[in-house]
Amino acid sequence: MLHTRISQQLAEDIGRMAEDLRVPVSNLVRNVLEEVFSVVERVTENVGDVIEGVLDEAGRSRRRAAPAPRQDPPDILGWQQLILARAGCCADCSAPLSRGERAYVGVTGSGPSPVTLCADCLDARCA
Ligand SMILES: [Zn+2]
Repeated sequence: MLHTRISQQLAEDIGRMAEDLRVPVSNLVRNVLEEVFSVVERVTENVGDVIEGVLDEAGRSRRRAAPAPRQDPPDILGWQQLILARAGCCADCSAPLSRGERAYVGVTGSGPSPVTLCADCLDARCA
């Protein structure tokens, strides 16, 4: 049981609404309160999701902003010089590498990797 003091106007509104809906006033009040609480809960959950999303995004951009590690991936065994059959770009300095140019591909135990370097960056890595 819940007793509360409400305005005459609100009491009349509730009474009229209950009459329209043909439900007892107490049922109407309970339903309205339950509805309000479920809305509040939903809003609270959504706010939680939004905050989590923002935090995730912030974490991702922090990681993006971090300088890329310049070490060789541990699985690259060596560098193979090759003449490019198609254009690409250097994995380290992003210099464009054109078709027919000499570049160096990192070779792993299971074959060539997608890491392609220009000659300058190969020298820098192997220095
Ligand atoms: Zn380079």
